[in-house]
Amino acid sequence: MSTAPQRPQFCPWCGSPIGFEEHDHEPRYESLAKEARARGEEPPPLPERVREQLSGESFAGACPGCRMVSHVIGHRAG
Ligand SMILES: [Zn+2]
Repeated sequence: MSTAPQRPQFCPWCGSPIGFEEHDHEPRYESLAKEARARGEEPPPLPERVREQLSGESFAGACPGCRMVSHVIGHRAG
């Protein structure tokens, strides 16, 4: 089952409609794990369930209303 992640449509700050774009980013836990390895530490593995949650599709959009740039992780339905 491959369900497309739900694309956010509104500014989380002021509610204006925004055209969000898909935005590739490295999951936060990956960045942290790399930092830990750079220090010579081995980060503990995360449960798969947690990794899936944290590595969802992300979207970025600039709001014309409040001029905030938002990064949002899309959540897969189901
Ligand atoms: Zn806004």
